[in-house]
Amino acid sequence: MIEEHRFPCGDCGSDMRYDAKAAQLVCDHCGNVESIAKDADSSWEITEQDFTKALRDELPEADMETTRVSKCDDCGAQVEFDGNNHASECPFCASPIVLDTGTNKHIKPKGVLPFSVAENAARDSMSKWLGKIWFAPNNLQEYARTARKMQGIYVPYWTYDSQTESGYRGQRGDAYYVTRSVVVNGKSETRRQRKIRWRPASGHISKFFDDLLILASKSLPKKYTDNLAPWDLSELKPYDPNFLAGYNAEAYSVPLADGFEEAKILMEREIRQLVRRDIGGDEQRISSLDTNLSNITYKHVLLPVWLAAYKFNGKTFQFVVNGRTGKVQGERPWSKIKIAMAGVAGLIIVGFIAYFVPANQ
Ligand SMILES: [Zn+2]
Ligand SMILES: [Zn+2]
Repeated sequence: MIEEHRFPCGDCGSDMRYDAKAAQLVCDHCGNVESIAKDADSSWEITEQDFTKALRDELPEADMETTRVSKCDDCGAQVEFDGNNHASECPFCASPIVLDTGTNKHIKPKGVLPFSVAENAARDSMSKWLGKIWFAPNNLQEYARTARKMQGIYVPYWTYDSQTESGYRGQRGDAYYVTRSVVVNGKSETRRQRKIRWRPASGHISKFFDDLLILASKSLPKKYTDNLAPWDLSELKPYDPNFLAGYNAEAYSVPLADGFEEAKILMEREIRQLVRRDIGGDEQRISSLDTNLSNITYKHVLLPVWLAAYKFNGKTFQFVVNGRTGKVQGERPWSKIKIAMAGVAGLIIVGFIAYFVPANQ
């Protein structure tokens, strides 16, 4: 069954939207306001889900969802558009294309972090940020300021929890110093030399990882999106499609198992640091590390991102704004003319200093 996410107003039947500032559903047509009901029962809790069961495709139907999505042929994004937004171009790559509609069956989101920064505030943050980039081409700054609205997108993420037990073997290195005499140009000198005494070391590290966040979208530039952190995940609300009213939602394109491979890399990096601390000494060597993962759980969550994509001189530029904090990240375009002018100005300043400074001495 396809979930049709529609949000008709109880009074007039127009589409409502979730208002970031009011944290309520608002009808722009008649002014009606509706709050998002919270169930009193315990189902209103964000539960962790069993990872191994999900990998074996043993998820109950209730944990799955099929939605109508539009796929961009250019960048591959699959987006569930809000009923109001009839997109004529892809919000991710700004390609003016006919979006091809289909359905997407996926693991249902468990949690959503609702937008709390409104579109105009997000656009203000972006203009300020662009204004600070002195080298940005003027016409791009102008374009960014005057261009149409930013797109509010719920971006898919995985979060993983896991207990880890790691056994390691390695060596602990303690520094000591020796002094030796050397003969330089016929003269005897003493030199102090740092040396390391290595001793075998082994041990065990026990570590629980909680909510490792992995981007499940391939349409957004990962380096910028990762830099939108931190996210206030403690404010996650149990998934309710009403939060999506007026926004677009992207379907995940990084499968659950692939996301976990990324999470494992993050875990190993941290475990190695813990091992080094455990070994102690001045230097450490890790010769073997054996980690056992257990109680692996995951959640599929949607995080709010304001997105602006521009085609400029044939290239796509993307800017993303954290829909909770207003933090901006994006490609920093450089204007060749401004850089050249800065170079000339720099030379003039250097020349000026070189001319006047000695005169004052
Ligand atoms: Zn209404
Ligand atoms: Zn696209």
